[in-house]
Amino acid sequence: MDLSGRVALVTGASGGIGRAIAEELARSGAQVALNYSRSAAKAEEAAASIKGVGRQAFAVQADVTDPEAVEAMFKQVQERWGRLDILVNNSGVTRDGLLMRMKDEDWDAVLDTNLKGAFHCSRAAVKVMMKQRSGRIVNISSVVGVIGNPGQSNYCASKAGLIGFTKALAKEVGSRGITVNAIAPGFITTEMTAQLPEEVGERIRSNVPLGQFGEPADVAAAVAYLASDGAKYVTGHVLHVDGGLGM
Ligand code: NAP
Repeated sequence: MDLSGRVALVTGASGGIGRAIAEELARSGAQVALNYSRSAAKAEEAAASIKGVGRQAFAVQADVTDPEAVEAMFKQVQERWGRLDILVNNSGVTRDGLLMRMKDEDWDAVLDTNLKGAFHCSRAAVKVMMKQRSGRIVNISSVVGVIGNPGQSNYCASKAGLIGFTKALAKEVGSRGITVNAIAPGFITTEMTAQLPEEVGERIRSNVPLGQFGEPADVAAAVAYLASDGAKYVTGHVLHVDGGLGM
């Protein structure tokens, strides 16, 4: 993929999948802003590793649930690089539990970060992309937003919501040369899935046609494709990167 000269912002780039996405976009030639909310050291380290291979990158703090912080983050990117070509809404959290015992705070925390955070960032990005008459937005949803998962009603609702959001926005901004797509990863080896008990992991693996968890690089490669010229006629699509789990 040739993304030379493109400017990208990846939210949640201090985490497993976000870092892999930032590195893949940089490898393809993009300048990358790496967002984080709490894990400054991890984001700074990822940015340093990208700069180490000769690409421009910087870490930028913002809690995506805070609209003012999000606006300030986009302003920083604009001031530094003067444009924005690619936004990857990747920040996400889980607060798992059965619905009957789920606290309002657990519902709100997941919806606020995973869905409202993407709304805040997309709104800020679209303002810039509309003027440019070009742009790419990629939302990281999940296979469980399509097929459901017990104990994750809040998370599944947020990820299913992202898919509806993707399609509505794709229709809204298509005439301005902006594409909006979603990726629905299956179970990917990161800190998020490291919390799964061994027997749960085994059960999931046995249901995956390809027989294993995916790697962050598998999701990153799909993002690079959707951000590339090769995907210029693809919008409103949900790309499953799940080893076949969601079939
Ligand atoms: P992870 O390693 O736990 O990373 C989560 C990232 O989200 C971190 O960088 C974290 O930053 C960021 N984040 C959390 N709350 C935030 C907030 N309020 N504002 C800004 N950033 C925030 O998880 P991951 O596995 O890489 O997951 C990345 C995305 O892929 C998530 O959206 C997740 O739902 C999705 N996904 C993952 C899997 C999987 O199997 N791993 C499968 C399907 C979908 P800080 O640490 O700095 O707060």
